[in-house]
Formats: sequence, C-alpha cells, structure tokens
Amino acid sequence: MTSKHTTQDARPAHSGSTGGHSTPSSDRLASIKDHYDLIVIGSGLAGMTAANVMGRNGRSVLLLESHSNYGGLATWFKRRGGHIFDVSLHGFPVGMKKTCRKYWSQEIADDIVPLDGVRFVNPQFNLETSFTRDDFTRILVEELGQELEQVESFYTHLRRMDFYDDSGQTVGELFEQFFPGRNDVHRLLMEPISYANGSTLDDPAITYGIVFSNFMSKGVYTFRGGTDQLIARMRRELVSNGVDLRNHVTVDRIRLEPGAEVWAAKGVEVGERFIAADAVLSNANLKSTILDMLDPAALKPEFLEEVRAVRLNNSSCQVYFGLRDGATLPFVGDLIFTSTRETFDSPSLCDMHGESRTFSFYYPKTRPGSERYTVVASTNARYEDWAELDQVSYEREKQRMIDETLACLEGLVPGISADIEHAEAATPRTFKFYTRHLGGSSFGTKFEGLRPSMELHEEVPGLYHAGSVGIIMSGWLGAANYGVIQASKIDSYLHARALSATPTT
Ligand SMILES: Cc1cc2nc3c(=O)[nH]c(=O)nc-3n(C[C@H](O)[C@H](O)[C@H](O)COP(=O)(O)OP(=O)(O)OC[C@H]3O[C@@H](n4cnc5c(N)ncnc54)[C@H](O)[C@@H]3O)c2cc1C
Repeated sequence: MTSKHTTQDARPAHSGSTGGHSTPSSDRLASIKDHYDLIVIGSGLAGMTAANVMGRNGRSVLLLESHSNYGGLATWFKRRGGHIFDVSLHGFPVGMKKTCRKYWSQEIADDIVPLDGVRFVNPQFNLETSFTRDDFTRILVEELGQELEQVESFYTHLRRMDFYDDSGQTVGELFEQFFPGRNDVHRLLMEPISYANGSTLDDPAITYGIVFSNFMSKGVYTFRGGTDQLIARMRRELVSNGVDLRNHVTVDRIRLEPGAEVWAAKGVEVGERFIAADAVLSNANLKSTILDMLDPAALKPEFLEEVRAVRLNNSSCQVYFGLRDGATLPFVGDLIFTSTRETFDSPSLCDMHGESRTFSFYYPKTRPGSERYTVVASTNARYEDWAELDQVSYEREKQRMIDETLACLEGLVPGISADIEHAEAATPRTFKFYTRHLGGSSFGTKFEGLRPSMELHEEVPGLYHAGSVGIIMSGWLGAANYGVIQASKIDSYLHARALSATPTT
C-alpha cells in the first residue's frame, strides 16, 4: 500500500482574513454588476439553494465563494491515479429528493437513490438494517428485546414533539424515559444521528425527534453520480437562472447603512471593492458572520452576548482510501458504523484516539460508468485536540489515524490493504482551512444558534443567515431547506422594500 497523507492540508491552519484561500483578484469581479437584489456569501447547500430560488424568482443574485469548489462541505477532491473522494456524501433523508425536485430540478431529484445496506458492528450488536421505521422496529423488538408497544409509543412521542413547545428534555432523558438502562438501545438510536449532525445525549430531545423522524421515514439516501456531478448540475441550474457565480472571492465585511433606529444591509466588501445589494444572505459560519463581518455598533449588546455564547458543534476527521485501478471489493454494505467500545457514550465519539468510526464504501454504482472503488472513514472530532500540534506531531497523528483505520477496515474486508493505492487523512484543521468554519465545525452550531440565525434580519434589516445551525438546520437536507426558508423571507423583504419605494400618485 502506498500511503500519502500530507497532500490536502500540509499548510498549517490559518486564521487570517483570507483564511488561506486565494486572494480575490480584481478580474474575478471584473464583469459583475455594481448592484444586486441579493448577494449570497458562501456556496454551501444553504447558500446555493437560496441563490437558486431567488434567481428563479427573477431577482438579480451574486453568489461569492471563497474556495475554488462550489458546494461548501458538500464537496469532493481528486487524486492522481483516478481517485475521486466524496467528503460528506454518506447519506441523507429521503426529503432531499423533494427539496431538489422543487427547488433544483427533476434531473437532480431523479439521481437521489436509497443506499442498499447500513450495518452496525460493535460489542453490543452486529446487524444490518434498511434504516426504515419497520426495520428499526424489528431490530428493537426481535434483536434487542423491547416491547412492541413501547417502541410504537416512542415513535408516536417523537412525531408529536412540538418545536414551539420544547419541554427542555435532553436526548438522554428521552431514551431513559422509553428504554431505561438499555445502553445498547441508546447506541442504536443515537450513534448514526451523532455522525449525521454532531448531536449528543445532552442536546435537546426536540432536535433528535425531528432528525430521527426524517431519517426513519424511508431510510438513507445518496446521490448517484457523486458530489462532483451534483454540484456541476447545481452550477448549471444557477447559471440558467441568471445567478452570477464567482469563486476564489472571500467577502471581508458586510456593509451596513446606519439608521436612527436600526442599521440596514447595503452590500459587501471584498478587499477594497464594495458591491451594493438590497439584501445580503450569509452562508458563512453564524458566529463569524455576526462577530467578524459586521460593525458591532449595529447590534444590540444583548444580541451580541447571545451570539458570543452560542456553542459550535464538533468537527470531524476522515481517512480516504483509493483502490488501484482494476481492484474490486465485495459488497459489504454502503455505510458501516463500527466501534470496539464496550458501551455507548457521546463524548467518546469525538476522542482523538477513538474507538468508533463510520465507513462509507463507494462502489462503481456511486459513479455509473466508472469501475473504481473508494472507502472513506469518518469520526467526529474536537478541534482543540488538533489545533495546537506542531507540524511533526500533526503528521505523526495523521499517519497513526490512517494506520488504525486501515487495521479496522481489514477486519471488515480482509486483504484490502494490498489493493489500496492512495491513503490520506483530513482533520479539523483541514475542515477549518477549506470552509472557514470556526473550530472546523462540521455541523454549524448547537441548538442555541438557531434563534440568532433566524432573527438576524430583525436586528439588521436586509441581512439574513442560512447554513448549518441549531442541529436541526444542518446536514444536506437541513441546510438546503434552510436556504429555501430564508429565500422566501428575503423575497418578501425585497417586495415590501420595492412597494415602499414606489411613489403613490
Ligand atoms: C466529514 C463530514 C461528513 C458529513 N456527512 C454528511 C452526510 O453524510 N450527510 C449529510 O446530510 N450531511 C453531512 N455532513 C454535513 C453537511 O455536509 C453540512 O451540514 C452541509 O453541507 C453544510 O452546508 P451549509 O450550507 O451550512 O454550508 P457549508 O458547507 O458550511 O459552506 C459554507 C461555504 O461558505 C464559504 N464561505 C465562508 N466564509 C466565506 C466568506 N467570507 N466569503 C466567501 N465564502 C465564504 C465556505 O468556503 C463554504 O464553501 C457532513 C459534514 C462533514 C464535515
């Protein structure tokens, strides 16, 4: 096996204003207009979906992305030897199909297909599931010995959870209420959701209720064609809807118009260049949007305090394995949640020397027409564990992670090492470098980030935020849907603004 592990982020984590991304060259902005109805900062799924909806509505939209790739964390990268690695295409709920059909295209929706096999391998159980409500019920009753009535009442309880009537119950308390003392049941219910959105047993039960119910409706889905194809189609759709797209452009500041009572958004600054807009939507990290890109004088001190207190969600590590051309893999499942840890607890999922990881297997069916196989292992991670390592220790830890992950993979597919041509690791520093998310956050913020994100426009008229926040609005589906919600609000704002500017006769 050839082991390469320094290619993706050999440079140290950056914290400066350009975050290590390309400096905006003036020609990147040469052909743009001086004024737009809406400027979107960042091309994650929330930013791109909002831009597309607004473009379709006939609004003039400029989408600015710091990175070379569009898509934010919905991304991929290529390596010599024909390897293409997907970063966050592990699985999402069926709702993504409807969202893409309504707000993108039928063609994109048609390539959203179910995964064939999800497995759990840990000291408490070893099982395969279609990840649907029926199958989870079967497992809970037949394999983990729970009463059918109790399982049904758990589902009913989840469905009845009212977002506006949050009882303050935590996920751990919810599990104890329905399945007391059953750590194995808690593991089955929680582990996949923790990987999907970084939530823990201490987070509000309401967040679990929404996300688990979304997944349980029809299982786990993926995009046939790979992330590169999805984003290429989304770009084409944006262009056909008249959206101006510019990559390698980092927005430094959001400019506001001081008013007697409130300050309103009036555009963005990219280096020395000001681009005017009636509304701005930031898809950048919530805390950096508010605390780094705005004049604090525009915000009420209580609001600023609330934002400062918002906790970031965890980050991730990944190990990418590319099989040599011509090598094949037997079908062992699409998604395998593995752990050697005897019992389940949330904090250990983020341990630097952790015992739990998820494997995504990408067979030729991922990219029809290709005969290649890749495997991506993901773990949740804490930024602090990686941030301060000197370069030698950093490289050593990455190699250790690759070696331990490969040993684990050998347990699932004996002999696979002989066919692995490329191995590489990403850490929280990598995610921070490529997305500018504070702490390399993979899933935005904890629950308390939802309110300031949703109410930002009440503090600063014309300024909106959309992107992973509050656990509920994260992941591919959560982010895309949040983009739609915010686009609708922006459209109403622009409409009202135009009406108030129209002279009456
Ligand atoms: C390892 C990993 C695995 C995951 N797996 C899954 C999965 O299987 N299923 C799932 O549903 N979700 C998964 N997720 C989560 C999912 O990818 C994200 O929640 C979602 O893609 C986030 O979208 P977003 O709209 O919040 O924006 P982001 O993806 O966070 O994108 C924000 C964009 O804004 C840009 N930006 C930031 N600041 C600026 C600036 N100043 N100027 C210009 N541009 C800027 C960034 O470069 C970035 O492109 C995973 C995440 C990680 C890290």
